Amino acid sequence: MNTIDAQIKEVADLIRRSDKVLVFTGAGVSTESGIPDFRSADGIWSKYDPEDFTIKKFLSDKNARKMHWDLLSDGDLSMFKAAPNPAHHAITDLKKTGKLYGVVTQNVDGLHQKAGLPGELVFQLHGDLSHAKCLECGSRFPMQTVAEWMRSDIQEPVCAKCSGMLKPDAVLFGEQLPTDVLLEAERRSRNCDLCIVLGSTLSVYPAALIPRYASENGAKLVIINLGPTELDSWADIRIEGKAGEVMPDIVARAAKTGPA
Ligand code: NAD
Ligand code: ZN
Repeated sequence: MNTIDAQIKEVADLIRRSDKVLVFTGAGVSTESGIPDFRSADGIWSKYDPEDFTIKKFLSDKNARKMHWDLLSDGDLSMFKAAPNPAHHAITDLKKTGKLYGVVTQNVDGLHQKAGLPGELVFQLHGDLSHAKCLECGSRFPMQTVAEWMRSDIQEPVCAKCSGMLKPDAVLFGEQLPTDVLLEAERRSRNCDLCIVLGSTLSVYPAALIPRYASENGAKLVIINLGPTELDSWADIRIEGKAGEVMPDIVARAAKTGPA
């Protein structure tokens, strides 16, 4: 048995011995669905300037807002057309074993829900790009609707109820994370007995505290990623591999009766 097979078997065994498995996902879980991550060579930061994605810039600069809306109303945008890949489906299959305690995700693409996970098990730390939110009255509108408004050649969409400023409902740099989501994710990280990280450099805070808290509170930590992460030295098992190849194998073995 080669090393990766042995590691996959070890993780499947860990799942079998656990009652509460928390999965933590980053942009790397969605690259196999065609959505680029941030920090790879052809990632989002190779094309855009992170400075344009701060809340300060969004609120103060009309042109920056226009760039956001133009980006989001692009009919070809991969994020809205993307379908879940085998990694997302494997996580949904893990729920069927009765062990899934939750999925804490940094992703804003909604693919865990598209793969059939109920919303109450998905903790979206960085919000959700499927909607825009009014900064005045809090009304939410589907991004597809906002995209329609943009196609009628307006400069900037406004709230259909109060004409307030709209913002994509994802967290920008310098913006607070949704408190209730973060608190519940932290609670589950302290109570889980196994945390599996998939496709994240674990370099964005406070999100990266979730696997840290899990490990500090005695949970086993498994990291599956292409390339190094900031918590590699904390991992009980560290698998260098593709999420969409490794995770289905792990879950299939964990769900099997008899030896993994
Ligand atoms: P990141 O770009 O910092 O790290 C992604 C990691 O996943 C990299 O190490 C990369 O090598 C690895 N990876 C890529 N494809 C993989 C695969 N198939 N299997 C396993 N590993 C793979 O992303 P991050 O840690 O999530 O943090 C950055 C921020 O990215 C988050 O704040 C998130 O909100 C945002 N983001 C989200 C999306 C999305 O919603 N899909 C896309 C881009 C960025
Ligand atoms: Zn409003």
